[in-house]
Amino acid sequence: MDNGENAVPNVIIFPLPLQSPVNSMLKLAELLCLAGGVHVTFLITEHNHQRLLRSTDAGSRFERYYLGKFSFEVISDGLREDHPRSAEDYEGIVNSLQGVAEPHLREMLRSERGRKVTCVIAEAVFGYAFEIGKEVGIPVFAFETVSPCYLGVYLCIPKLFEEGQLPSKGEDLETLVTGVPGMEGLLKVRDLPHFCRAKDPWAEESGKLIMAEIHAVPKAHGLILNSFEELDGPIMAHIRTHCPNTYMIGPVQQHLKTRLAERETTMPPSSNSFWREDKTCIQWLDEQPEESVIYVSFGSQNTLTMAELMEVWHGLVASGVRFLWVLRPNTLRAAKEVLDQNLVRELKKGCLECGRIVSWAPQEEVLAHRAIGGFWTHSGWNSTLESILAGKPMICWAQYVDQLVTRRLVSEVWRIGVDMEDRCDRLSVEKMVKELMMGSRRQELKKSAQKFSKLARESVNNGGSSYTSLDHLINDIRKLSSIKHFQNNLSCIG
Ligand code: UDP
Repeated sequence: MDNGENAVPNVIIFPLPLQSPVNSMLKLAELLCLAGGVHVTFLITEHNHQRLLRSTDAGSRFERYYLGKFSFEVISDGLREDHPRSAEDYEGIVNSLQGVAEPHLREMLRSERGRKVTCVIAEAVFGYAFEIGKEVGIPVFAFETVSPCYLGVYLCIPKLFEEGQLPSKGEDLETLVTGVPGMEGLLKVRDLPHFCRAKDPWAEESGKLIMAEIHAVPKAHGLILNSFEELDGPIMAHIRTHCPNTYMIGPVQQHLKTRLAERETTMPPSSNSFWREDKTCIQWLDEQPEESVIYVSFGSQNTLTMAELMEVWHGLVASGVRFLWVLRPNTLRAAKEVLDQNLVRELKKGCLECGRIVSWAPQEEVLAHRAIGGFWTHSGWNSTLESILAGKPMICWAQYVDQLVTRRLVSEVWRIGVDMEDRCDRLSVEKMVKELMMGSRRQELKKSAQKFSKLARESVNNGGSSYTSLDHLINDIRKLSSIKHFQNNLSCIG
C-alpha cells in the first residue's frame, strides 16, 4: 500500500522560460500552496533560477513559508551560457528547451520513486507536455499566461486559412478580418502574426509553434487563464466552445494578495523579477504631484532601435509631462548590443527636471502610486492587467503576437487607453502623451479604467468569479489525487 504522502496532490508547474510566464506561474504556485494540502514542483531553467535568486528573495521565501509544499526542479535550457535569450530568438529558445524538457518531463511523470505526480500545469505552447500526459495517463492543464483575447483570435486562425481569408493577399494591413467572434469590425490583418501574410506560412518557425499551440490547447485536461469574467466574459464564451473546462483565476497578482491577507500572514510581497528593482524611483514619485507622472515601460522582452529610443526620449521631454521610464540594459534591438551607459547618463542628465530613468522598476508599486496618471505600455498582458488593477489609462505601443490583439480591446472595447499604432516619431509621442495626461478624453478613459479596477478587485474577493474559479481548480486537483490514490491502493491489494 502506498504511504499517505501520495494522497497529497503533487502538481508540476512548467512555465515558458521568460520573465512574465515565470512570474504568473510562481503566483499560481503560491496560490496552490496556500490552499493547503497541495505540493508544487516548479520546473525552471537553470538560467532563470539563477536570475531569480540573484534579484529576489524567492529562494529563502519559498523555503521559509512553503517548506514541504514547494520545490524547484532545475533543468538546463540547452543554450550556451552566453546566449542572449532574447525574445528575438523565441523559437530557438522554445525548441532548445524542448530537447531537454521533453525527456525530463517524461521521466518525472513515469518515475516510480518519490512523490507521484497528480497533474501538470504547462504553458500552452508546450504541445509535447500534453502528448506525454496522454501517453502516461496523467492530466495536463494548459495555462495561457497571455491574454484570453489573443487565444480567442488565434483559435480561429485555422478556420481563416480554410476560408481563404489567410494568408492575406493584399498589402493593406488595415483590411478587416471577419468571422472572429467578439472581434467584428475591430480585428485587422496587422493584428495577426506575420506568418498569416507570408507566401509560405507553414515554412515559418513562428507559424509552426503557434499552430502547435492552437491544436494543443483544446486537448488539455483544462485551461487556466489569468483574467476575470467581468473583463473577458464575451471572448470566453467563444473559447469555451473549444475548451469547455476553463478556470479564469486572475488577475493572479491581486488574487495572491487577497489570499495572503485572508491568512493574516506576515509574508512580505515579492516580485519574482529577473532584474533588481530600483526602488529609488518610489521616493522620487513621493515628491511628485498627484497623477502628474506618466510611467513608461515596454516590458521585459520588447526592444527598440537606437532611432526609436531617441524619439521616445525627445517626445517625452517635449511633452512637458513628468515621466518615469524603464530602460532595460537589453533594450536595444540588435540582440548583443548592450545599452551604452554613457548614453544613459546623458539621457538622465537631459531630463533631470522632468523625468527619471531606471533600468527596472517595482512596476506594481509604481502603477499603484498616487503620482502616476497614466501608463505608456507595450500592451503585454501582465502590464495591461496591472494597469487595469491600478485603474490607470494607457497608451498602447504593441509590437507583436498577443500585444497586437490586446491593444485593440484596450482602445476599442474596454476603452481604457489609446493606440499609437506604429507612429513613434517624437511629434507623435509628444501628442499622445499630452492627450493621455491632459487631453479631452482623459476623464472618460480614467473612469473606464477605474470601473475595471473595481471589477478586477471584486473578482478575486471571496465569492467573486476568479476566487470561485480557483476554488474549483483546487477541488478538481484534489479529486484527481484521490482517484489516483484509490487506484494505487487497489492495484497494491490486487
Ligand atoms: N516589470 C517590472 N518592472 C519593470 C518592467 C516590467 O516588474 O521595470 C514586470 C511587470 O510588472 C510585468 C512584467 O514585468 O509583470 C512584464 O510582463 P508583460 O506580460 O507585461 O510583458 P512581457 O515582458 O512578457 O512582454
